[in-house]
Amino acid sequence: MKLSLSNRQLSEIVGGKNGVGENVSSVHSIVYDSRRIATASTSAFFALKGVHSDGHTFIDDAYEKGIRTFVVSENVTEASFPGACFIYVDDTLNALFRLAAYHRRSFKGKVVLISGKIGKTSVKEWLYTLLAPELSVSRSPKSYNSNLGIAISVLEANPVSDVVLIEVKPHEELNPAKINELLHPDLGILTTTEVAGTMFPDAYFEALYKGCTDLFHAERQRAFLNMKTAVRFVNPLKEELYPSEAKRKNVALAHAVALKMGISEPKLQEKMKHLPDLALRMETFEGKNGNFIINDLYNLDADAFRSSLEFQQALAKRKKRAVILGLQETDLPKKQALEELIREFKPDYFFLLNENETFTEQLKDTVILIKGSTSRYLLRIANQLKEKRHHTHLRINLKSLRKNIIAHKQVLPEGTKLMAMMKASGYGSGLDKMVQFVDGYGVDYFGVAFVDEGVAVRNAGIAKPIMVMNTEEDNYEACINHRLEPAIFDFQQLDDFISECIYQGVYDYPIHLKIDTGMRRLGFEPDQLGAVLEIIQSQPEVRIKSVYSHLAESDNLRDRRFTEHQIRQFALAVNKIRQVIDYPFEQHILNSPGIENYPTVDFSMARLGIGMYGISANPSFKRKLEPVISWYSVVSQVKRVAAGQSVGYSRSYYCKTDTIVAVVPVGYADGLRRSLSNGAGYLTINGTKCPIIGKVCMDMVMVDATNAKVKVGDEAEIIGPNCPLEKMAELLGTIPYEVMTSISERVHKVYVE
Ligand SMILES: *Cc1c(COP(=O)(O)O)cnc(C)c1O
Repeated sequence: MKLSLSNRQLSEIVGGKNGVGENVSSVHSIVYDSRRIATASTSAFFALKGVHSDGHTFIDDAYEKGIRTFVVSENVTEASFPGACFIYVDDTLNALFRLAAYHRRSFKGKVVLISGKIGKTSVKEWLYTLLAPELSVSRSPKSYNSNLGIAISVLEANPVSDVVLIEVKPHEELNPAKINELLHPDLGILTTTEVAGTMFPDAYFEALYKGCTDLFHAERQRAFLNMKTAVRFVNPLKEELYPSEAKRKNVALAHAVALKMGISEPKLQEKMKHLPDLALRMETFEGKNGNFIINDLYNLDADAFRSSLEFQQALAKRKKRAVILGLQETDLPKKQALEELIREFKPDYFFLLNENETFTEQLKDTVILIKGSTSRYLLRIANQLKEKRHHTHLRINLKSLRKNIIAHKQVLPEGTKLMAMMKASGYGSGLDKMVQFVDGYGVDYFGVAFVDEGVAVRNAGIAKPIMVMNTEEDNYEACINHRLEPAIFDFQQLDDFISECIYQGVYDYPIHLKIDTGMRRLGFEPDQLGAVLEIIQSQPEVRIKSVYSHLAESDNLRDRRFTEHQIRQFALAVNKIRQVIDYPFEQHILNSPGIENYPTVDFSMARLGIGMYGISANPSFKRKLEPVISWYSVVSQVKRVAAGQSVGYSRSYYCKTDTIVAVVPVGYADGLRRSLSNGAGYLTINGTKCPIIGKVCMDMVMVDATNAKVKVGDEAEIIGPNCPLEKMAELLGTIPYEVMTSISERVHKVYVE
């Protein structure tokens, strides 16, 4: 959001009833869901009352996360929230509306209101494509049908844009006059108004579009005679342009409006050749047996369905057509009309499925349209029909991941918390998705190496605390804005961080003290603790959230003395800190091998990294774990190479006998290391080990697949049951950590349950 208001200004805008002192901190954005707080220090929390929940019950949580400005409609015990500012209003949603209206008044450009029953998003996206970059355009991210959603889309718009596109989904609970007053639209677009029985009266749209200079629509029968607005009927584009009538209508609307906004006709004609195909928001993909799948689970409206049937017809040409219609009970009233529509298009096959019915029909060379509103179930059918030709991908087994986390948790003393270490993109397994999964698997904390990783974790929607091991002066601000908790390991850094807290007016900010007990990497020396504690005790800006240290050889099972020494040193340091610090704090030293080999060591938390992925050097613990990561590609070409010919760059390999060579599209740019060239490594195809021949290329590798009965499209295992991560590490003379984190970001990740 693009606000910049002091608390007092905010209070005046929303009609605050109490006096609010001028405050240096300023409000840049608003939040209403305490789980989704990104930049606490510059956000104001609106305690909204919904049908199911009341925002006032989340004030504690929002305060805890750093929010200091609240807009409320109920009395709050302010003494419990030191430093916070409360603005009292009668109705918090109304207050939010007033703020949105205030923001709207600051818009420099024009507001285009897009409404109608279907096609809104297409028109919005196409209009965007036609207007930008000649004009700067803000567009609402979603189609909202609630007062709240529309206020949010106004607040999210950039006030200096030339054009703001706002999509409004007509709904009984939406008051069109109120929306009109808020949006103050300059231009209107109405796509379609009527779908299968739900019809909004003309008066509804007249109120919604009041004051627009022009209203563009594509429905001949609507005249809107009561409006002062110029009502412009737009003819659909010519038939030959796009097969679907809906697309011809919607592109025509976008075109008319873009022309009105000053984009030249030649430019528009050029742009219309490259419109993104999102008309129907559907997914199309190759199926098994030469089938082609159109998966359209957007909605079951007859108009939308007609468009999909037209699309299918256009695609199929001479191929056969099959329609799979999935209905749930609430769709039954529509059944007859839908069936009639299908009959009109005369598909070769029609299957009507009830929810959870299996689909066993064997279709070939057919264009299959899957349509319905029971998305989850139909998605499964679509997947079943999909051609399973995945390209290079890293497969992450979530079930095993969860098991491994539990296995580690179980050996620790009861109540020990777990911090999941997600550095290096979750050890190469993809940061955003992984934290979202791991969040649900009973961890208490996240740990990352750098602030940008922490920001990514926060942005992935994680509310749990996040420790950042390496922070630097220039990112303390981002750190505080995203509620990331820094590890502190030297005096200068402590000093700088406290300065940033003072600058931002932050108190009691959680920090983690890192102590060096023998790793000789980051950390305060134990004899520096006295001085560190003195600083922390005298600065109200920071508070010790935890004290930690790192083990150097917790995986050494033969000689445990050094690890035991480190653990003793750590316990001494913790005791020393306890004598000075009178509030509780967490303590943690165990990493994955530490947990596995020293499970009785009793500190309040442990840090789990590689163990999650099923890697352990402790054979008896390893038995409790399952591998999580596997890596596959697909054979893209097979060729016969005669004895004596060379393969690959630098001609470093000559075939001794006639050889079947399989080319696999994975190379060193994916992380398949070049040192695996010429027999040092192998891929497994159809259960047969195929040695790498020639040099590994940037994006490809050649293997000797003479014994593998290989054909194009066969799966090639890089890491998996035939070459576990540990084996790959051994081939490369390194450790599994390095193998995992060297797999390139570009490798597609597939998460399987
Ligand atoms: C990476 C890391 C861990 C996790 O180590 P694993 O051996 O993968 O369990 C724990 N603590 C710190 C400080 C780390 O840097």
